Amino acid sequence: SNIFFRPIEKINAVIESYPKGIAGFKRYLEIIDTEPDIADVPDAVGMNIVRGDIHFENVSFGYEPSRKILNGINLTIYPGETVAFVGPSGAGKTTICSLLPRFYDVDAGSISIDGIDIRNIKLQSLRENIGIVQQDVFLFSGTIRENIAYGNLKATDEQIWKAARRASLDELIRKMPEGMDTVIGERGVKLSGGQKQRLSIARMFLKNPPILILDEATSALDTETEAAIQQSLAELSQGRTTLVIAHRLATIKNADRIIVVNENGIAEQGRHQELVASGGIYSRLHHAQFNR
Ligand code: ATP
Repeated sequence: SNIFFRPIEKINAVIESYPKGIAGFKRYLEIIDTEPDIADVPDAVGMNIVRGDIHFENVSFGYEPSRKILNGINLTIYPGETVAFVGPSGAGKTTICSLLPRFYDVDAGSISIDGIDIRNIKLQSLRENIGIVQQDVFLFSGTIRENIAYGNLKATDEQIWKAARRASLDELIRKMPEGMDTVIGERGVKLSGGQKQRLSIARMFLKNPPILILDEATSALDTETEAAIQQSLAELSQGRTTLVIAHRLATIKNADRIIVVNENGIAEQGRHQELVASGGIYSRLHHAQFNR
């Protein structure tokens, strides 16, 4: 499911999107109403220079007390590593990733970043250090500049252009009637799916978080756009600890580590070739999904 069917009013620092349409919005309101409050403990600390060392220790979690989704997950993700979570729908890939910015708190066990339990980190600080890129990009009616700088009011023009360039959005912007000041959205220029994704990637270059969560789109773009976006995402994930909720073969193949999640938790992990060769769950998934 979508990582942003989550209590998002509390997470300004990481918002990239929200569910589209009335149904999605209603669901979002229901969720923020029912979510137990996630708040700072009195002596919560800020995070300064983050290595991005992530550790799940015996993590158990369920959305409802009667139904555990994660049961004793143990996982270490190293600074700068890119891990791809794969597995059947509903296995808990999104859930694992949504615990990191504390959209929910664990029921048992702990999650730490750079050795600090995330429940002891100031929420705002935690979320400033985590960037999320996902399929339904949240754009508001406003200029391209405002949309890229979203959440970073101090960004200079130079920084905004640099982010646009790194996301390969600069050429497009130059061709637009009013460049960076072109209004997009309802009353302005409409962007294609691929362009929206580039814009969200530009935002992330500007935000520059040490930890990144990529919630990959399931619906494919055309092959050329797809390859170009993959390239931008690969650059974005350079030097950041990256968790990918993966659906695409390209990302999965290039990940430093693939983590296969099924109803029993983490079933297998390793590199693509290793997992294919071992003939386990991943090799079966891989054949079923990609070699049809
Ligand atoms: P997909 O590949 O389909 O996105 P996933 O592996 O990411 O699946 P999750 O989204 O983590 O799976 O869902 C794990 C389980 O938790 C599913 O059974 C799902 O129905 C349930 N679930 C997810 N979000 C919620 C929620 N907000 N409230 C209650 N149950 C939820």
